[in-house]
Amino acid sequence: MAKPLPRLLSVIRTRRLTPNMIRITLGGSNLAGFPAAQESAYVKLMFPAPESNGGMELSSEASVEEPKPITRSYTIRSFDERLLEMELDFVAHGDNGPASAWAINAKVGDKISVAGPGAKKMADMSADWFFIAGDMTALPAISVNLEQMPSNARGYAVLEIIHESDKQNLLAPAGLEIHWLINPKPDRPNSVLLDAVKSLPWLDGTPNVWAASEFESMRAMRRYFKGERGVGRGDIYASSYWKMGETDEGNKAAKRNDTDSDIN
Ligand SMILES: Cc1cc2nc3c(=O)[nH]c(=O)nc-3n(C[C@H](O)[C@H](O)[C@H](O)COP(=O)(O)OP(=O)(O)OC[C@H]3O[C@@H](n4cnc5c(N)ncnc54)[C@H](O)[C@@H]3O)c2cc1C
Repeated sequence: MAKPLPRLLSVIRTRRLTPNMIRITLGGSNLAGFPAAQESAYVKLMFPAPESNGGMELSSEASVEEPKPITRSYTIRSFDERLLEMELDFVAHGDNGPASAWAINAKVGDKISVAGPGAKKMADMSADWFFIAGDMTALPAISVNLEQMPSNARGYAVLEIIHESDKQNLLAPAGLEIHWLINPKPDRPNSVLLDAVKSLPWLDGTPNVWAASEFESMRAMRRYFKGERGVGRGDIYASSYWKMGETDEGNKAAKRNDTDSDIN
């Protein structure tokens, strides 16, 4: 089946959710027919390749022509079918990447081409307990997961943020302990997430593990969960959402060559 064409959407609203997170609401009639209940799935934002003459106003036709646009993945935080509005939360990590730079400078009325949705990123809600961990790029997907957990869910959500004031009010079951970790330098090698994850007592029963963060941080957590805790491959989602010192293209290449993704 042919891939659906990207949709040209408009910026409806933009606001600093917290100092290092920008919430952008996209909308417009081109969102008609976008599937409902896809929160936690990703969409791909399309930016003109540097060698192209295009501005941000890619049309569906232009975006499938050469040179190929640059794409960046962002999680659907919410989608309102009635208003035809979709919210995406962007880590404002600087103007060194097309997506972050675009979000920082976005104004009402700006246009962007958006493809998707891709697969949803939900934990297995029938698990005995949950171990959720991630940095700010994963916070939108984690927020959706916590909101949709059964009310008797138990376990941990370990969340790395840049500043104390990046904490968000999360809707989560009472039995899900939330641990905020402050790391002002997420772009320097560190073991902030791993150290916190390892420090938490293992609970009884079989957990479902959901972890997404910077490439090396995710790998370290995955090694711990699979190698030291014996979490089976069907009980873990572990994904690299970005890679230090690499653009998203470098992150994707590293993921393809990630030889220990299969350890168990
Ligand atoms: C399935 C999926 C869902 C995602 N959902 C979200 C989301 O909802 N919100 C979100 O903010 N991100 C999300 N990400 C991560 C986002 O796609 C990457 O951070 C992406 O690299 C940003 O693109 P860019 O154009 O800003 O920077 P790039 O051009 O990719 O990179 C430029 C430079 O910035 C660095 N960089 C990239 N991201 C970060 C960061 N977070 N902190 C510090 N430095 C960084 C790179 O290492 C590189 O040096 C998701 C990724 C995936 C795979």
